[in-house]
Amino acid sequence: MKYTMQDFAKKHMLTLGKHCVYGVFEGYCVHIKYTPIGNPRCLIAVVTHVGEKKKQLEKYLTAKKGELGISNSGVVSIGLMVCPRFTGEVFSAAENILQKLTAHLKKNGFAGADVCPYCGAPLDGQGILSTDSDIPFYTHGRCFESALAAARRKDEEERRKPDRKVLGALGGLLAALFGGVVYLLTCAWWGFGALGSAVGAFASLWLYKKFGGKNTAFAVSFCGAAAFLVSVCALFLGAYYQAYTAQGGWAEAFAFFVNGGKQTVLCWLNAAMIVVFTALGCVYNAFSYARVRRTNEDRTRRL
Ligand SMILES: [Zn+2]
Repeated sequence: MKYTMQDFAKKHMLTLGKHCVYGVFEGYCVHIKYTPIGNPRCLIAVVTHVGEKKKQLEKYLTAKKGELGISNSGVVSIGLMVCPRFTGEVFSAAENILQKLTAHLKKNGFAGADVCPYCGAPLDGQGILSTDSDIPFYTHGRCFESALAAARRKDEEERRKPDRKVLGALGGLLAALFGGVVYLLTCAWWGFGALGSAVGAFASLWLYKKFGGKNTAFAVSFCGAAAFLVSVCALFLGAYYQAYTAQGGWAEAFAFFVNGGKQTVLCWLNAAMIVVFTALGCVYNAFSYARVRRTNEDRTRRL
């Protein structure tokens, strides 16, 4: 029997949200985000007032990585976050990790859900439920207001940063060309190169951002188009290469597409897979754009 997010929520009386489950677990506000195709797939947060004990907590998480079964961890002012390592069932693993984490926090005097994680003062039943970085927990109304103001300031800073579209596009194009090279090499080895399209689309947005462009709808479309066009050029170059090795030229290369032989099947298979793999790369990019479109203010709200 599969131990689902629903089973886990029911067992611990937690609330189900969109791709997440949250509530009070062993006295601490916890949040588990689970998206099967996300990156990371699963992110567990335990809320506590960290204060001066940040280093100590970081050290513990790094040292106990294997024992806890986590691949990554981080400590912020309002608590800690870990990514479980995937072996077997996600929610059995998450439950196990949460039990170990909350036991450690309790033993070392970290405050639970009855203390405001921002200021470290007891809530005395006056807490409101709000989110920070989409993680729900109880806090003072006034502490929430200052967190919201800080989130707005951060958004404003982000908005003021210049969007270097031209440089970004140059980076995007370079990465798309790299995808084209991957296409040609794999095509020369296996006769199948379309994976290069996915590499192109994915790397294109990455380099676009590295070159100072912002992740926008324009960036996603530009990078998708660049990867697609480069792949189409690579498709013809690949066919030309095959023709060339058989002492042919462009005429023979184009003939591959229509003469009905084994080559024709391969050419059209590559063409079809270019569409599929570019689309996959674009979907991934679109998801990353959808994530950044949500501002810090969007992630900081009263529930
Ligand atoms: Zn407070």
